[in-house]
Amino acid sequence: EQEVSEYRKSLAIRVSGFDVPRPVKTFEDCGFAPELMRAIVKQGYEKPTTIQCQALPIVLSGRDVIGIAKTGSGKTASFVLPMIVHIMDQPELQKEEGPIGVICAPTRELAHQIFLEAKKFAKAYGIRASAVYGGMSKLDQFKELKAGCEIVVATPGRLIDMLKMKALTMTRATYLVLDEADRMFDLGFEPQIRSIVGQIRPDRQTLLFSATMPRKVEKLAREVLSDPIRVTVGEVGT
Ligand code: ADP
Ligand code: MG
Repeated sequence: EQEVSEYRKSLAIRVSGFDVPRPVKTFEDCGFAPELMRAIVKQGYEKPTTIQCQALPIVLSGRDVIGIAKTGSGKTASFVLPMIVHIMDQPELQKEEGPIGVICAPTRELAHQIFLEAKKFAKAYGIRASAVYGGMSKLDQFKELKAGCEIVVATPGRLIDMLKMKALTMTRATYLVLDEADRMFDLGFEPQIRSIVGQIRPDRQTLLFSATMPRKVEKLAREVLSDPIRVTVGEVGT
């Protein structure tokens, strides 16, 4: 324990919450399957970034996480890699429809970047990812979602539109990510986020990532995450 806390300190990682899994030092420590390890190596990722060292084992353990670390610190892979594992763990993948992993991001650029990162790791398993954001034809998106997918990466407004059009059902969704939560609030997406969260079963795993934690975001986190572990890397303002 002493050693673990020294190691966290050396990486400027702070954690709070009960039973926090110890940080990993390598991707091998995460127990990823060979296909996923190959995809990680192919990406040129040699070792986990600081946030990944601590967030990966927590997310893989199934716990809810609040991850706070600055832009460029590698937050995407800390939710995308465990999402692939989570999807592959679902029994009888074929029987139902609708996404298993749902990721909300504030802008179409960010949603697109996450979509690309998710696709790189999903490909090895034949997992299908769809991107859902403004600026694309709603009809095309409707058709794509109707064809089926396991992962949806979306901006909140367009995802609500697609849900209203019944382009997808959330019955299979058990892994929800709210990425760049502070920016989603700045852009006024709080009502849409609350609506989306309300449409996903409460026994989901929920992850919230943000560069800062203003009080409004803190309040949402308290309401929509269960027994979360908070991971903070470096100095972060509110
Ligand atoms: P954040 O979401 O924290 O702003 P990103 O997830 O977008 O950061 O990652 C920033 C950059 O770091 C991306 O180009 C990504 O491909 C790269 N990256 C992520 N994880 C690793 C890693 N383990 N090793 C090397 N590069 C990485
Ligand atoms: Mg990011």
